[in-house]
Amino acid sequence: LPLEELIATLAVDVPDFPTPGVLFRDLTPVFADGAAFRRMVEGLAAPQQADPRAAAVAHADDGAAHDPGFDVVVGVEARGFLLAAAVALHAGVGVVPVRKAGKLPRERVSADYSLEYGTASIEMHTDSLRAGQRVLLVDDVLATGGTLGAALALVEELGAVVTAVSVVIELTELGGRARLAPHAVHSLWTT
Ligand code: 5GP
Repeated sequence: LPLEELIATLAVDVPDFPTPGVLFRDLTPVFADGAAFRRMVEGLAAPQQADPRAAAVAHADDGAAHDPGFDVVVGVEARGFLLAAAVALHAGVGVVPVRKAGKLPRERVSADYSLEYGTASIEMHTDSLRAGQRVLLVDDVLATGGTLGAALALVEELGAVVTAVSVVIELTELGGRARLAPHAVHSLWTT
């Protein structure tokens, strides 16, 4: 089964969550399926490949010195953590968390972004990235792009370079891709 069909089959649509009128795509069953999870992680780790199936083949042919195209994976709390850690392990690099406000103990940078109602704030430790480091930014879902846009701003504030943004699902009608431009968005499934 092509990966996008596998994701579409396992993901569960939940109407009116978390508020009436919102169709929530629940990915937890995809995470819970071993084969689907592995293929999802491989796909996210190969953002330069438009087709994750081609990427999986390319990866199998690569030697140990393969450069994945990024030096570190940044994941957004909370579902992004499940993916980012696995992607980092797969690619042989480290993982850095973007956390909701108030969770990180040391010197940090913050970015505000808008939600449907009000605003939220996310943070990173100031020393979590070095200037010039190449970052793969990972989350589960790209909706309006508010969350990933704020995460991108934090990474750039620290002087690092976002070389790609990888998500499992892109909800195209909400326009998140345009909001993240000119950064390339690699999505495993667009709907
Ligand atoms: P955005 O900031 O792009 O509008 O929303 C993206 C954030 O909200 C992501 O962190 C994502 O986890 C969450 N999100 C928004 N819509 C959905 C959805 O339908 N399913 C899931 N699993 N997460 C969503």
